[in-house]
Amino acid sequence: MKESIKNNEIVTTGQFLGVVEEFLADKQSTFIKEGKIYATKTGIINFSFDKREIQIKSHQEKDRKVVSINDIVIGTILFLRRYSVGLNFYMINKKILFNSSCFGNIHVSQISDKYVEKIADAFQITDIIRARVIKQTNNEFGLTCIGKDLGVIHADCVICGTTLTKVGFNKLKCEFCGNIESRNLANDYGNVNYHLRY
Ligand SMILES: [Zn+2]
Repeated sequence: MKESIKNNEIVTTGQFLGVVEEFLADKQSTFIKEGKIYATKTGIINFSFDKREIQIKSHQEKDRKVVSINDIVIGTILFLRRYSVGLNFYMINKKILFNSSCFGNIHVSQISDKYVEKIADAFQITDIIRARVIKQTNNEFGLTCIGKDLGVIHADCVICGTTLTKVGFNKLKCEFCGNIESRNLANDYGNVNYHLRY
């Protein structure tokens, strides 16, 4: 038996990995033909010598489903308090969805690098926002919206529910009823092209 493949080495689809006398092949990432184990996908080989298991881990499996500091998250504003807003967030770094949403909080000091007099001028309930995770306490996450790409990315008119159109810096207008509202907008408000609602 040649010892050509080492742990953590990159293998490609179809590559010979070992023999069944030697390893327990993982069904998700290998197949067996005439006692020989081959890779069914490209990835990083993972031998477990104690359990004799052989497995290929691909890039996607490195994607995590847990929230880490500095992750960019997408969430919906649930309520406004005097000095903070509460939200549910459910998507990080544009691609990872959680099985369930997480609860986040944005303190008034983390809404903008400018002074925010009234939280209601920055956010409204049902706004969809992009934020960055800055701390974790138990199951609650502290978020910030300070940063040009952070802030509201979707907002509906508080009167009639029509999606608001950006008409100026942090200014939105309802094309249906004419209502003018203010928000702490992300710089790509109106141009966000991935799905916002799940
Ligand atoms: Zn309206």
